[in-house]
Amino acid sequence: MKKIINSKIITPYRIITGHDLIYDGQILAIDLDSGSCDEVIDAKGCYVSPGFIDRHTHGGWGYDFSCADADQIVEGTRECAKTGVTAVVPTIEFAVHPTKQDWAVVEAIECAADKNSKGSEILGIHIEGAFVSSVENHQKIHVQEMIPILDRMKKGLVWTVDPQAEGMSDFVTELSQRGLYASIGHSEFCTQENFMKCVEHGACQVTHIYSSTNGYYRENGFRYPGIQELSLMTKEVFVEVLMNNHHISPELFRFIYHCKGSAGIVLATDCHPRKNKYTSGAEKFETIWNEPLHRTSWWGSPGMDDVVRAAYHAGIPLCEAVKMATLTPARALGVHAKKGSIAPGKDADLVIFDENVQIQQVIVKGNTLL
Ligand SMILES: [Zn+2]
Repeated sequence: MKKIINSKIITPYRIITGHDLIYDGQILAIDLDSGSCDEVIDAKGCYVSPGFIDRHTHGGWGYDFSCADADQIVEGTRECAKTGVTAVVPTIEFAVHPTKQDWAVVEAIECAADKNSKGSEILGIHIEGAFVSSVENHQKIHVQEMIPILDRMKKGLVWTVDPQAEGMSDFVTELSQRGLYASIGHSEFCTQENFMKCVEHGACQVTHIYSSTNGYYRENGFRYPGIQELSLMTKEVFVEVLMNNHHISPELFRFIYHCKGSAGIVLATDCHPRKNKYTSGAEKFETIWNEPLHRTSWWGSPGMDDVVRAAYHAGIPLCEAVKMATLTPARALGVHAKKGSIAPGKDADLVIFDENVQIQQVIVKGNTLL
C-alpha cells in the first residue's frame, strides 16, 4: 500500500486538502488518517490530479508513433508520460487499401501496447485518414471492403471520418457496433444533413474543432450550420480542442467552453514527432509553404501539461481544465469506469504538479515513472 501526503487532490468537482491519497495499483481511499504505508510520497503542497489522457498524438520529442518499431513507440510513450499523460491513443494515417507498411505500423503499436511498462498506457489507435477530405476526396465507402480491415485491427479505437464521403454513415454504424468511436473531422465542407446523419448513426465526437472543420454555409440564400455550430449545439457530441496558445485564442476557447462546458470538451495535443517545442517543425514547414502556419500539428511537440496550462490560463477553473484532460476524454473513449478521476476502484493513474502545472511526478497504475 502506498500513499501521497500533503497534497491538494483534484476531483472533477472540487479540490480536497488535508487528506491522504491511498493506492496500490488502484485508488483505495481518500482518507484523513491513513496509518502506515510501504511507500509515502510527500507532494509538498502540490496538486495531485488524475493522469492526463491524450486521444490525439502522432508522437513527439523525436519519437514517431508511425515508425513501425515497437521499442521506439514505447520510448515515445515515456516522453508522453513526462507531460503528465498516463493513457494515450497513438494517432496514425492509414490507407483505404492498406499497404504492408500500414500494417507494420499498426502491429508495432499493438506490440508496444502489450509490452509497455515504461510510459503512458496505450488505450488503442486513432486512425486519422483514410476517409478524410484531403486524402480520399469523397469517394464512396464500401463497408464490406472495410470489414476484414476492422477484423484484423486489434487495437482500433477512434476513426476520424469525413461525413461528406458517400456511404460514411454505414461505416459509422459498423464502427459503433464494434464499440469503436467515429469522430467527425477533416471535412472542409460538411452539410448539416450529412453531419446529422453520421451523429444519428453513432458518431459522438469531433476531431480538432476549428481545424479542418467548416462553419456555417449558404444554400439558396439560407444559412445552415456547419460542423462547428452543429457540434457546439449538439450536447451528446464531444469536441476535441487543441488548446496550446498557438492555435485557439483564449477568447475562442472560452466561447467553446461556454457552449460545451467541461463535460463536452476533450483537450488533446495533436503532437507531431518533432524534437523541439514550437520550433523545428514549424520553421521547416514555413519554408516549404511560405505561408503562416495554421495547424498545431506543425508546431512541434506541445505536451498535455502545456495544453492544461493554456486552458487554465485562459481563465477556466483548474478543476474544469483538468477534467477536460481526464474524465471527459475517459468518457469519450469509454474507459471512465477505470480512468479519468480519483475515486476508489479506479486505476492509480496520477500526476503531481505545481501551481503552474509543472509536472513533478507521474504514476501509472501505482508505479511511479518519474
Ligand atoms: Zn492529427
